[in-house]
Amino acid sequence: MGALRLGIDLGGSKTEGVVLAADGFEIARRRVPTVKGSYAATLATVNSLVLEMEKLAGQRFGRFGIGIPGSISPRTGLVRNANSTWINNRPLGVDLERKTGRVVRISNDANCLALSEMHDGAAQGAHAVFAVILGTGVGGGLVLNGQIINGAHGLAGEWGHIPLAHEDLNAPPCFCGRRGCLEQYLSGPAIVRDYLASGGDGAENVEEISARAQAGEDLAKSVLARHLARLGQGLGTIVNVLDPEVLVLGGGVSNLPGLIKALPGAIAPHVFAAKGDMIEIKVRRAKWGDSSGVRGAARLWRLEE
Ligand SMILES: [Zn+2]
Repeated sequence: MGALRLGIDLGGSKTEGVVLAADGFEIARRRVPTVKGSYAATLATVNSLVLEMEKLAGQRFGRFGIGIPGSISPRTGLVRNANSTWINNRPLGVDLERKTGRVVRISNDANCLALSEMHDGAAQGAHAVFAVILGTGVGGGLVLNGQIINGAHGLAGEWGHIPLAHEDLNAPPCFCGRRGCLEQYLSGPAIVRDYLASGGDGAENVEEISARAQAGEDLAKSVLARHLARLGQGLGTIVNVLDPEVLVLGGGVSNLPGLIKALPGAIAPHVFAAKGDMIEIKVRRAKWGDSSGVRGAARLWRLEE
């Protein structure tokens, strides 16, 4: 095996490929739209992306890593918990290996984000890193001492489906079958839904609501303040369980102006620490932004393997 590695990130709206050199330099990168709703098209997209990346890199790869929403059940080998629901209950690893003729290693996209940022990003060198993706869904991934922690059932880090409001029967339903999951409050679509339900007028995305808040609209400001408070509560849970050295945020919602800076203050009230205790919660935006997932996917194979 040469020193180059190939990674693919299977996102809900785009599928990305990267060829990474040992030092993290991107030899090639390509992004194509994800065909929503079709499993066969997903396999075909990944296959053609692999071939294209090989052409760009000028070499054949016998293996690649891929980040996906959701995870592989260790018991069945099938994808579960993906909000790109058309890949759920499918033997994605086996099918990709058959389709591409390459050996495939799969991990959750937030795990890939955490791995990437630990190597050469916002959490470089940290022993305990928790990374969250705030996008169309909400995911979480955990890296300890350089290793992705999958957990006994492959569920470690599935932070987005911790309930924020488990006692509230009117809490919004989640695609996972439960109610009141963090994802239903913290994702981009959840912010838009909250804004519209609070009487907001015709905003289609978070950027629009953010622009209105910047322009001084009270409703937009209060919706974003509510989002910040909920995010602080959700991340406070993580701090109490793992106390990571760095919390890394990725995904479109993490680009909200001022969010990263405000978060330590929003987390602090939920942390089990005495008043006056010197608590410094480090929250950082993913250094590699949108491409951190795909860079982490390439790193699912260690160079020495
Ligand atoms: Zn859920």
